[in-house]
Amino acid sequence: MIQASAVPQKSEIEIDPKYEGRLDALLSCCRTHLPTVDENMIRRAFRLSYWAHRNDRRESGEKYVSHPLRVATIVARDIGLDDISVAAALLHDVVEDTELSLDLIQDEFGDTMATIIDGLTKIEGVFSSQKLGQAENVRKLMLSMASDLRVILIKFADRLHNMRTIEALPKKKQLQKASETQELFAPLAHRFGLFTIKSELEDLSFKVLDPEAYTHIVDRLEEMAEQREAYIAGFIEPLAEHLEEEGFEFEIKGRVKNVYSIHRKMQRKNKPIDEIYDIFAIRVILESDGRRGKEDCWRVYSLVTDLYKPLPERFRDFISVPKSNGYQSLHTTVFGPGGRRVEVQVRTQEMHEVAERGVAAHWKYKEGTENVDEEMERFLEWVRDLLENPEPEEAREFVKEFRLNLYDEEIYAFTPQGDLLTLPQGATPVDFAFKVHTEVGMQCIGAKVNGKMVPLSQELESGDQVEIITSEKQSPSPDWINFVVTHKARSRIRRWTNEERRKAVELGKEMWTKTKDQADLEISDQELQEVAHELKFPDLQQLFYEIGKGLYDPDELVDHIKGNAQPEGQTVEEIDEESLQEQYEQFLDAAQETETQALVIDGEVQKGLAVNYASCCNPIPGDEVFGFVSKTGTVNIHRCNCQNASDLLVNKADRILDVDWSHQKDVQFAAALRLVGEDRVGMVNDITTVISKNLKTNIRSITIDTEDGIFSGTIMLHVSDLEHLQRLIERLKRIDGIQGVYRFKE
Ligand code: MN
Repeated sequence: MIQASAVPQKSEIEIDPKYEGRLDALLSCCRTHLPTVDENMIRRAFRLSYWAHRNDRRESGEKYVSHPLRVATIVARDIGLDDISVAAALLHDVVEDTELSLDLIQDEFGDTMATIIDGLTKIEGVFSSQKLGQAENVRKLMLSMASDLRVILIKFADRLHNMRTIEALPKKKQLQKASETQELFAPLAHRFGLFTIKSELEDLSFKVLDPEAYTHIVDRLEEMAEQREAYIAGFIEPLAEHLEEEGFEFEIKGRVKNVYSIHRKMQRKNKPIDEIYDIFAIRVILESDGRRGKEDCWRVYSLVTDLYKPLPERFRDFISVPKSNGYQSLHTTVFGPGGRRVEVQVRTQEMHEVAERGVAAHWKYKEGTENVDEEMERFLEWVRDLLENPEPEEAREFVKEFRLNLYDEEIYAFTPQGDLLTLPQGATPVDFAFKVHTEVGMQCIGAKVNGKMVPLSQELESGDQVEIITSEKQSPSPDWINFVVTHKARSRIRRWTNEERRKAVELGKEMWTKTKDQADLEISDQELQEVAHELKFPDLQQLFYEIGKGLYDPDELVDHIKGNAQPEGQTVEEIDEESLQEQYEQFLDAAQETETQALVIDGEVQKGLAVNYASCCNPIPGDEVFGFVSKTGTVNIHRCNCQNASDLLVNKADRILDVDWSHQKDVQFAAALRLVGEDRVGMVNDITTVISKNLKTNIRSITIDTEDGIFSGTIMLHVSDLEHLQRLIERLKRIDGIQGVYRFKE
């Protein structure tokens, strides 16, 4: 490592006059584009960089320092960052590539600069190291970004210059850099609203990845240029006249989309370039600001549509409702001369700068790095949130979701109070609920969209008004994971599920220790593990979990270990088909009563109503459900995510009832099981042991019958929900000699 004393004094560093000239150009660019410029700092940074890289060359053969100089120019001109960022850009490769240390940077330029350079060095390390998986890379990239936003913005500039000079690299490297750029940097730049940089990054990588398609589009654009320009001029002329008459100060021009976005449009529509009508857009930029500016945009919009007939369905108002990266503009498509469709964008100069330079322009308008715009703050919160949960599966999923959240179109949905929320496409009421507030998401039991109950998994559409119905007793259902699309909803649901399980395991462990101590039982973990296997638990965790959940009685475990398991509480009697049938009917009558009481229909607890639990989706307490009145008057209860649900909800909405589970505790559902197996000694004992182990299983009766070595038994019981019953069935099936366990009269 080089110490500060080893760096020659400024005067001793001899600089090639050509580079002195380039430094002056950079400084003048800074003065034009930045609010304040500490020229001395930028000069010192340049000299240090020049000296540190004095022996390095770019692949092109140029002096290495030309690269940081270009990057600094992009930072100043195209991103419009502050002077510290420009100085940092000059030094961005110094710690990574030369023997200068971070300490030296800190001594010379202070803590902020050191933090930024450190972040840049770390990101570089992430990208050059091949052994890390991509998800891990992205996570680290985010980590450094979250520490200082400028790190990532400078990185964009660095990547942009490297892409501009990519031809000097060997082919394999070119492909690798280009796909990294297309997969990661361009979407990220888009998320930051850096439109100009995003477009150039896309085109540069597209050119490397698919040169043929790229050249085809570029050539065709050139061939059509003359004709297109004439058309644009003809379109603009009368409009410009009108605007002048009305006294607007403005700039108006036709702008061709970037090559890659034309390519994507061709792919999406499966059409050749000649049939893509919106390869250019007319942009009107107004020289007015603030409130006045907004009004002017609307006035201009009305002038445009006076002149050219609009297609109403193509109108987008991003002024009242900006995109989440801050983009504001009015978009409309009109019929131009010859009936051709032309997109027109109207915005003020300020909106235009934000549109082109994104977050950095916000920065400039808000003055000061603390006041990053609210959306960006939320985005960073999202990133931090993610970094707090660095589980490997999360990291893997991150890349997927990250890209999803970046590129997909957004939708806008309203709360009943009329507040507007921006969500990614594919978002469901659950995503909406979590976006409103974590608490709302956690307690969400149902949703009304535009006044109608819908399944929680239903995709929302732009303009939907969404009312979330909550209950304090509700907690997230693990299967929500299957349909939510926002990271927040996903991570909260997963965190909750894991936490619940962890708590139950811990509680179970505690309960077991207490029970064991009371019973004066000495048992090693190893021995307990064996017992767990004997009892068909996959592992100790599951055993503790079931104890904690009250599904398995620790006393029974003690008894089992001491070898004196005792069935209790059930009467075992010889089977008598007639009395069995009678008992069963009585039992079902009673059960029907209990089950109905478990439902609240349209806000009232229901009794004596004919209710049927749909067999297509088997609703159990806790599920989101709705009622469907059949022709015979029976209310069929379906889960909201039942595959038949959307059909019923949409096409037969008038027969839908708002249904909720009542919050009565200890609601029990009736079930009767038939067991078949081989007749062997101890069978009844084994069965009753399994059942009595399941604490909350309330057994009404057990009857058994044996004939020719075949054992058959019937158990009538009450369970709290279907999951409970299924667990019991699984447990019974594991008993030696049992061949089948069936729901009675199913
Ligand atoms: Mn670099």
